[in-house]
Formats: sequence, structure tokens, C-alpha cells
Amino acid sequence: FSSASEVMPSNVQTLVDQAKYLFDSSFGADVDKNLPNYCVSAPGRVNLIGEHTDYTGGYVLPLAIGFNTVGYGCGSVVKKDSSESIKCRIVSTNNPVAEFHVSPSLEASTGSNKWVNYVQGVVLQYLPDLKEDETFMFDLAIIGDVPLGSGLSSSASLEVATAVFLERILDSHGVAYCSAKDAPLSEKQRKMERAVRCKLAENIFCGVPCGIMDQFVSSAGCEGKLLLLDCRSLDYREVSMGGENASSSDAPVLVITNSNVKHDLGDGEYPVRVRQCKEATDILTKMNPSIQSLRDATMKDVEAAAQSAGLEGVLLQRARHVVSENERTVKTADALEKGDWETVGKLMNASHTSMRDDYEVSCEEIDVLVDLAQTFGDGVFGSRLTGGGFGGCTVTLVKKDSAQQLIEYLKTQYEAKTGTKCVCFETAAASGAKAIDL
Ligand code: ADP
Ligand code: MG
Repeated sequence: FSSASEVMPSNVQTLVDQAKYLFDSSFGADVDKNLPNYCVSAPGRVNLIGEHTDYTGGYVLPLAIGFNTVGYGCGSVVKKDSSESIKCRIVSTNNPVAEFHVSPSLEASTGSNKWVNYVQGVVLQYLPDLKEDETFMFDLAIIGDVPLGSGLSSSASLEVATAVFLERILDSHGVAYCSAKDAPLSEKQRKMERAVRCKLAENIFCGVPCGIMDQFVSSAGCEGKLLLLDCRSLDYREVSMGGENASSSDAPVLVITNSNVKHDLGDGEYPVRVRQCKEATDILTKMNPSIQSLRDATMKDVEAAAQSAGLEGVLLQRARHVVSENERTVKTADALEKGDWETVGKLMNASHTSMRDDYEVSCEEIDVLVDLAQTFGDGVFGSRLTGGGFGGCTVTLVKKDSAQQLIEYLKTQYEAKTGTKCVCFETAAASGAKAIDL
């Protein structure tokens, strides 16, 4: 990402042109001209609040943002045969062309080619839609401006873009998408099903035990809205800043700041947190069998388990974060709709403290950024770490009039304090994944 450190969200059309160019220059003369072309895009996201709650079925409140992954390619469903000509080829910026044959026995790559797993994992999720004697054949070029590994979910945007590409192929081939169901899926069900499949792809094929937030909002995001998602039922409510009647000029804006640091520790700590949540849940379930996940527990339950059921130390801290974060997330959605920015800001600040002290997923650089924003003075309502942690981005709710001043302040002060440059920009809620007409 360092090379793109001053890049703002680029316009999707530019990405489409770049993807088409990459497609032509990578596959060129070898492309089967009979295969139809498709173009798709899927956004990254920022989470306002509700962090590390999705994998225990809790609440999250993300929005899709104006950074996207775009795929341009051609492809079809074809009859399997023994010839080597039925294959898939994928390419992305800074990665050479990778070739593979789609089969259930496909194995995940290790080392420098790991990015192909995000595509292949999704392909495997769509394979059951085909008949026994059919398979996919495609060439696909990927270009994105979602910064990689910065907590804005480039991985989910890559998965979801791949999924929409495959759905376009299935649609053109007349495959009743998700044919196990009796009736065709509604547009809403389709987005949900896509998110479920992409999450499974990341869990199974990429070995990341993530929840469903990123894939869901990349798939179902809505312009101008945040999504309050119940990660257990997958019910969601579209939430607008200030509610339906707010005049948009009064509403504050969100500023994302990329710390430009990513500590390797994070990749290993994520599965540790997932495991600790399971262990804390086991203790709570023993105390009260109706608590089947942290989502079912209240802060009273957590306190009771600390008193009498042996919930202590790190497990107590982890449970306290997740359970209190669920409560904060639901409250934040309500406060947002009422235009009660002070309350939203306080909840964001409390979320950060909880992630830093109880969940222990922050780091020095992120704490510097959050502290700078929280003490900026009039104009800032709240600020917190967003995403998995150990680096990545912060999100700040700030009065529209103060946003530019805040951005300048964060840039100079962060560099002065850490020696690292940050990237800072205002963001608005963008729409979810789509097919782009060619
Ligand atoms: P995040 O999702 O927060 O950006 P992850 O570590 O979950 O971070 O995912 C980043 C990985 O996703 C990259 O290392 C790469 O393997 C893959 N990826 C995402 N977008 C692209 C892209 N446009 N081209 C190639 N690989 C990508
Ligand atoms: Mg990711």
C-alpha cells in the first residue's frame, strides 16, 4: 500500500479500463473469442462499530466505501472433458497469471501466490450449482484500489467480485442459481447467499476464521446507508445518519485514517481471539444453558459468571468486550438515526477503549491516531480502531466543517509522533457489489 499512500478512492470507470487493459495484455491472443465478456465490481468497507462480534453471531454496523475491486473477464460453463484446454486463468496487479483446473480436489496455494486462494475458494463454493459433467472455464483480470491488509477488507471485495462474476456466467448459461431452493432467489436473498458462500470460502480455503461482516456489506451495501447486521439471523436494517428526515448538510461525516502499519502479530492473534470467545462461551453455557454464544449473554451474565462460574483473566476480558460491544452497536444505530451524534461518539470511544484494554487488538500507532482525534477538540464526536486490529485504520465521526482541519492535524501530528505518514480521507456509504454493463 505504501506506493499508493496518497491515493483517494478512484472512480470505478478507471478501474474498469485498467482491468480491461490487464486482461488484454495478460491473455491477449489466447482468449477464446466465443466466450462472453463480463465486468463486475465489489467494494471494501469500514466498520463504524461492532468489532470482533460477527464470529460469535453478534451485531455489526459497517458501510461499503468508495474503494473497489473490479474484475474483467470472459467465461462460460462447459462440459468437462479430458483435454487440458478447459482451464481458468486469473491475473491481478503485481501478480503473474495463475492457471488452474476447477475441481473439488483443488488445493490451496501457499507462499507468494496466496491471493489465488480467495478466487479459487469462491469458485469451489459455486461448483455445486453445476451438473456433474460441467465445469467453469474463464479468464479473469483483477484490479482494485482497496488497500491490501489495511482493515478495509480487500479480501472480501475480491471474493465478492469473483462471486458476482461467476453468477453472471451462471445466469448467461441459464443455470438456476442456487437450484436447491424451490423458487428463484430474490435479489436480497441472492446477496445474502453470496455473502455466506464468500465467508465460507475465506474460512475453508484461505484458513481465516472470519465472521460474515465483510462479505455481507460488500455484497449488500447500500448507498448512503450503514447496515445494522445481526450476524446470526442475517437480518439487517439500513441505517442512515440522522434518519430519513435529516437534512444531509447537518450530518457529520466519517473520516478514515490508514495508519500504514500492519503488525504481523495480528494474523496469529485473530484465531486466538476466536478460540478465547469459544472458551468464554463454554463457561457461560455451563452457568446458564440458554447462553449458546456470546451473542446470548448480557453484561449481567458476564458479571455473574465472573462472580461464581470461574470466568476470569483473559477470558473475562474477551467476553466483556464482545458482550458490551454488541450492546454499544445496537445503541449506536438508534443514536445515529436520531442524529444524536454525542452519544454515537461516546459509544465509539468506549468501543476503542474496550478493544484496546479488554480485547487487546490495538497497537501503539493506532492508539496515537485515536488519541489525536479524540482530543482534537470541538468538531470530533468520537474515534476508534476499525477492522481486526494490530494496525490498519481508524474511523472518526466529525462535523463536516471540521473534517478538513482534522485531516491536516492527523497527518502532521501522526508523522511527528510516529515517523510514519498516514492516509486520511472522508468517506460516504457506497453501494454493494454489482455487474457493470459493457
Ligand atoms: P484486508 O481484507 O483487510 O485488506 P486481508 O489480509 O484479509 O486484508 O486480505 C488481503 C489479501 O487479499 C491480500 O494479501 C491478497 O492476497 C488478497 N487481495 C485482495 N485484493 C487483491 C487484489 N486486488 N489483487 C490481488 N490480491 C488481492
Ligand atoms: Mg480481510
